[in-house]
Amino acid sequence: MTGRILVVDDVLANVRLLEARLQAEYFDVRTALNGEDALEIARRERVDLVLLDVMMPGISGFEVCRLLKQQPETAHVPVVMVTALDSAADKVTGLQCGADDFLTKPVSRTRLLTRVRSLVRLKSVTDELNLRAAAMQSVGVDPREIFTAPQMKGARILVVDDRETSIRHLHKALGRKVEAEFVKTAPEALEAVETGNWDLFIISLSLTGADGLRLCSQIKAIDHLRHIPILIVTDENENAKLRRALEFGVNDYIVRPLVEAELRARVTTQLRRKRYTERLRAMVTNAVELAITDPLTSLHNRRYLDSHLSSLLDRSAEAGKPVSVLLFDIDFFKSVNDRYGHDAGDDVLREFSARLKKGVRGIDLAARFGGEEFVVVMPDTDLDLAAPIAERLRRDVEAAPFVTRSGLELPITVSIGLACLEGKGEDADRIIKRADAALYEAKAAGRNRVVKAAA
Ligand code: GH3
Ligand code: MG
Ligand code: MG
Repeated sequence: MTGRILVVDDVLANVRLLEARLQAEYFDVRTALNGEDALEIARRERVDLVLLDVMMPGISGFEVCRLLKQQPETAHVPVVMVTALDSAADKVTGLQCGADDFLTKPVSRTRLLTRVRSLVRLKSVTDELNLRAAAMQSVGVDPREIFTAPQMKGARILVVDDRETSIRHLHKALGRKVEAEFVKTAPEALEAVETGNWDLFIISLSLTGADGLRLCSQIKAIDHLRHIPILIVTDENENAKLRRALEFGVNDYIVRPLVEAELRARVTTQLRRKRYTERLRAMVTNAVELAITDPLTSLHNRRYLDSHLSSLLDRSAEAGKPVSVLLFDIDFFKSVNDRYGHDAGDDVLREFSARLKKGVRGIDLAARFGGEEFVVVMPDTDLDLAAPIAERLRRDVEAAPFVTRSGLELPITVSIGLACLEGKGEDADRIIKRADAALYEAKAAGRNRVVKAAA
């Protein structure tokens, strides 16, 4: 993962040190020696993260942070305050200015890279969401709710820690807005992770009688839990363990003694990222659904049919299995529109789709081919099997009139062309063409019937 990072410090040596460490990890680094330049660069260039010294002559780091968060074009850029003292008061002030995270000087390599990676990852997710949101807006969907979701409120957090002082701090820091559950041992934890709909795990690396590291790796190995972030609680001297944990996907860590403001900042970042990632995934799933679904009938559309049929035909030819394709065309449908209006026509198409869907098996594919034409694809089905199914589907349409929303009862019939492929290779175009020729014969012979295509 790369990203562009702006390093701001009035001491050149500090700037150079951070720059070198970040460049060694292939980040693209910009530098500024004062607040004014920092604001200018952040406005002018796309920046993925700002590392901001607090004490600077001129505009202080706090003020720079406040200004960055106030301007719409830089508000979404994460800011990490670099504080000289490990002062809780500074952290609180930083949070009030909108800072996303803190680092204490001297900045350790592990700490620097964890914080930076974690926030750059969050930024890349929000960038992607912003792009989608813009696209949604252009098609008339209001995208604001994506970002306005509350972050801590209602979050489900599992805490695994057996040290009383840190449990007390965690209790206080998380507050009553979240739904936190506390357990003290690894077996309890492994049971609890499966039972709740968790948003975050907070795990102590130094459990008595258990290896916190192993517990983390066990959780990360469970497929449906892999996407749930883990925040580790560690002691000052556990660096080697910590590095291992970060290597296998633990998302962030916090060092005892716990500072509540810092803990809240880290929890919020992880919850935000999880939420955004979920939204993004849901939006992609929706977009894919939309792209392959016919909006009027909710059946699959032509595009989906084409790709499904091609791959099914390939697989079936390889396995020597038969495939049957039915092509439907509603009889005299134009006169439904002409006599009763387009809305009545739409109702007929919807009802037709419903009857079709009810009449086929789960493994069969029913799709709208276009207009008043539909296709059913039946894997593993030869002509002897397909012919009676086609006949039954035809009868299902004829059997009862179609009732429109305005209460009309319309007798409808359908003509069907049936083409089978028995273990040989044929492409999707060819088999549809054969079904279409059979359908044409069915129309010519008086409609409301099934005709089998010549092989
Ligand atoms: P045939 O028995 O030969 O199939 O006659 P037909 O009238 O069904 O065939 P034709 O192809 O002449 O007419 C199809 C009509 O379907 C024309 C078109 O306006 C209508 N149609 C296509 N798509 C839709 C739709 O989404 N909604 C409605 N209401 N009508 C549609
Ligand atoms: Mg037609
Ligand atoms: Mg027709």
